[in-house]
Amino acid sequence: MNAVELVGVSKVFLGKNKREFRAVHQVSLQIPEGEFFSLLGPSGCGKTTILRMIAGFELPTTGEVYIQGEQMRDRPPFHRPVNTVFQNYALFPHLTVAENVAFGLEMENLPRQQIRTRVGDALALVRLNGLEDRRPRQLSGGQQQRVALARAIVKQPQVLLFDEPLGALDLKLRKEMQLELKHMQQQLGITFIYVTHDQEEALTMSDQIAVLQEGKVLQVGTPTEIYEQPNCRFVADFIGESNFLVGRVIEQDSGGVVVLVDETLPISIPCSETFPVGKVVTLVIRPEKATIHPAHYLDQPCLAGIVTEVVYLGTDTRFVIRLTPQSTIVVRRQNIYRSNLDCFAIGESVQIQMASDSIQILGEG
Ligand code: ADP
Ligand code: MG
Repeated sequence: MNAVELVGVSKVFLGKNKREFRAVHQVSLQIPEGEFFSLLGPSGCGKTTILRMIAGFELPTTGEVYIQGEQMRDRPPFHRPVNTVFQNYALFPHLTVAENVAFGLEMENLPRQQIRTRVGDALALVRLNGLEDRRPRQLSGGQQQRVALARAIVKQPQVLLFDEPLGALDLKLRKEMQLELKHMQQQLGITFIYVTHDQEEALTMSDQIAVLQEGKVLQVGTPTEIYEQPNCRFVADFIGESNFLVGRVIEQDSGGVVVLVDETLPISIPCSETFPVGKVVTLVIRPEKATIHPAHYLDQPCLAGIVTEVVYLGTDTRFVIRLTPQSTIVVRRQNIYRSNLDCFAIGESVQIQMASDSIQILGEG
C-alpha cells in the first residue's frame, strides 16, 4: 500500500493584490510504505507547500491527499498519522530534553510510566541518553536536531515529514546526520518524506526522488535513474553537472539512432525511443563519462578541441574544452595516478571520447 498518495493536487494562493499564484500544479505522487522519499527542487518550487498539505496545515485548492488509503480532506493536522520535523527545530527553550520529547505525549494524557518508557526509547534511538536533563541551549546544533527528531518519533507516526532539517548545520555534521537519518529510517521502517534543495543530499539518502520545478513534478525515480536517465534538461542540469550537445538525427533503426554531433561527428547511440531523421536533439553527457586524450591519440573520428580551463579538485580534475566557437564540453578525470596531474595544459589540443551508452538523448532541440 502507498503510505501517502497525492492525486492531482494543486495549490493556489491569493497574493496581496488579489492576484492568484499557483504554487503547486497538478501534482500526483505515490509514496510507498517504508520508503525514504525526497522532494527535490530549487527554492520556491513548492516543496514546503506540498509537505504542509500532507501534514494538513494547508488544504489543496484542488485534488486530494490520501494517507494509508484514507482521504484526508476533513482531517485536521493533529488527527493525521504524520509528524513534521522543522528546520528550526522549534524546541521549547525552558524545557529539558526529556520534557521536550514528552510534551506531545503529555498532551494525550498517557499514563506517566508509559510516557517515561517511550521517551527513553526515543532518546536511545537518537543516541541522546545521558542528556535528558539538559536544556536546548546546552546542546550542539546536531544534538538539538536529534531532540527534534526524538520528539517526532515518540508519537509513533506512520509517516515522518522533514522540511530541510539539516539546513542549519555545517557541512561535515550535515553529512554525518544524513547517514544517521537514513539508518534511523531503515531501523524504524516508517516512511520518511524529506524536502531538500540539495541534490547531493537527495542522492545520498533517498529510495526515490521527485524532482520539482515551478510547482510541477518533472521526474520521479531512484537516485540512479534520476542521475543516469534525466528526462529533461532541467533535471539533467539540476542534479549534478551535465554537458548539452546539439545533434541532428541522420539515421534511425530498431536498436538506436545515429546522431551527427556539432555537425561533425556521427555517433551511434542505443535508444528505445524513435526520432525522425533530420530532427535536432539535445545530447546529455556527464563530465565523468567523457574521456580526454592528447590530439591525434585515437585513430577514429571523435570530438576535438582546445583546453580553456583546468581546475584541480582533489579527487578529480575538471577540464573545460572549447569544441567550436559556440560550444564547450566539461570533462572530469579522476586523479588516480600522480602522473595525471601534469597532463593537458590550457591551450593544448585534445580529443574527447564518449562512450555511446552513456549519452542520453532528449527530444527537446
Ligand atoms: P519551497 O519550499 O520549494 O521553497 P514554498 O512551498 O515555500 O517553496 O513556496 C512556493 C511558492 O509559493 C513561493 O513562490 C512562495 O512565495 C509561495 N507561497 C508559499 N506560501 C504562501 C502563502 N501562504 N501565501 C502566498 N504565497 C505563498
Ligand atoms: Mg521550503
